[in-house]
Amino acid sequence: MFCYNLCSSSRGNSTFLGDTGSGILFDAGIGIRNFQKALSLAGISPQAIHAIFISHEHSDHVKGLDIIAGRFDIPIYGSRGTLEFLVHHGLLSASRKLHILDAPVEAGSFLVTPFSTPHDSAESIGFHIDCPNGKSAAICTDLGYPSETVMQGILGCDFVMLESNYDRKMLLTGSYPAFLKQRISSRSGHLSNDQCAQTLEQLVQSGTSRIALAHLSEENNRPELAHAYSAQYLAQRGMTEGIDFTLEVLPRFTEGRRIAV
Ligand SMILES: [Zn+2]
Ligand SMILES: [Zn+2]
Repeated sequence: MFCYNLCSSSRGNSTFLGDTGSGILFDAGIGIRNFQKALSLAGISPQAIHAIFISHEHSDHVKGLDIIAGRFDIPIYGSRGTLEFLVHHGLLSASRKLHILDAPVEAGSFLVTPFSTPHDSAESIGFHIDCPNGKSAAICTDLGYPSETVMQGILGCDFVMLESNYDRKMLLTGSYPAFLKQRISSRSGHLSNDQCAQTLEQLVQSGTSRIALAHLSEENNRPELAHAYSAQYLAQRGMTEGIDFTLEVLPRFTEGRRIAV
């Protein structure tokens, strides 16, 4: 059982969870050619994907969705708000196999439970996943702050993929217009490196041992900065990387690496 990230950044997000023969996909913010390239790099066939779970309608999560789901005849799960938005705006064909996700659902021997995330979109969600090997995982990106609902969804999971979107200083001093800076750092925007680190402290205390930092901004963050911030924050609180937890930053586009779950 492994987590395999096809791509992760403000430009595109898609994550596979499973083994080479069977699994599920989270978000499809990737073109079909890169999708096939990324899967073959890890020896996964598109036919192994039982379902696609969509967090929300922003293009970095859905740009390949309609074509990928159509080509491989894969059912799609998302909140009512997200699915309605996508179909209404012509981003998703109503003839696809669409399922409203408002309660735990079984897909390919995984049990996926959605939870609401605070983000400026129709009805965004994160995912708590009970895996067939008895482990639990959480995938949670695009959130302005770690709400109580989010914490309930991710606490205690063995593996957590969490957003570490921006460095506060880089955002403040960067080239983005003021309204965009405001949007990103608001309570319905994205999680900063420091908010991420504070959340990880609670996660590691709850038993989380494998962490992946996801959805880094290309403009307002750097992988080494995101990694150092969380690793140092946790070290200052007596939690040591490599002993208490593993921590890695997901690359923008996969280099073929899988993370054991
Ligand atoms: Zn978003
Ligand atoms: Zn996003």
